[in-house]
Amino acid sequence: MAKYIGAHVSASGGVCNAILHAESIGANAFALFTRNQRSWVSKPLGVDEISAFRELLVERGFDAAYVLPHDSYLINLGSPDEETLAKSRAAFLDEMMRAQQLGLKLMNFHPGSHLNKVSEEQCLDQIAQEINAALSSTEGVTAVIENTAGQGTNLGWRFEHLARIIEGIDDKSRVGVCIDTCHTHAAGYDLATEIGYQYAMEQFEHVVGLHYLKAVHLNDSKKGCGSHVDRHECLGLGTIGEDFFRRFMHDSRFDDIPIILETPDPMRWAEEISWLRSL
Ligand SMILES: [Zn+2]
Ligand SMILES: [Zn+2]
Repeated sequence: MAKYIGAHVSASGGVCNAILHAESIGANAFALFTRNQRSWVSKPLGVDEISAFRELLVERGFDAAYVLPHDSYLINLGSPDEETLAKSRAAFLDEMMRAQQLGLKLMNFHPGSHLNKVSEEQCLDQIAQEINAALSSTEGVTAVIENTAGQGTNLGWRFEHLARIIEGIDDKSRVGVCIDTCHTHAAGYDLATEIGYQYAMEQFEHVVGLHYLKAVHLNDSKKGCGSHVDRHECLGLGTIGEDFFRRFMHDSRFDDIPIILETPDPMRWAEEISWLRSL
């Protein structure tokens, strides 16, 4: 049992570059975008690029189980707008297929927003149906729902939202959750104190179930508990604070899943990773 820690590294110039970046910061896990995250359409991954990625991953000692592709920020599977939903559906399927092509096991995404046009329940149920559709057209990739800070009309900030989506999934062996610590804290689960941390974990276990925990985004938070504002901070410098990261590193519930930093300063990632390991 071990901790697999890395960061969301740049894949500009090609997905292979993400592996090299991850290696350079001393990571044994990493996250990446496999397509342009700000555009609806991206050119398909080339056959050569796919095989180069798979080979380099093994050559540099990474395990595909600890690589966590992140979907495009444009995608809203909960969109009440037909046109946006259609575009989101196509892009989401493409994200899942790219992960499959690269030999990866997970695909991380934000659940969606209701934009005040439909009820939370309707939106969550639609998200589940969209995930079902993508799962039935792909193989071997688990859809990993990220909890959110609850900024605007984003759903997924209450653990109950995640549980409701999971309830609607046909193949429960291919759905999981990524806990983002900044989002969790901003959503109102106080990670800064020992008692708050234990309570949040109990809630997660009770409402969602620990066996659905497939990944972590490890970030400190600029804004306070319950602020619903999504602003990541470097580890130990935010409102969550150092003590949390010490508790986290000693908590075996986070062993053997990718732990990904999305902290604001890429120049500090190597240092942040070695600091975590020193705890
Ligand atoms: Zn995140
Ligand atoms: Zn965030």
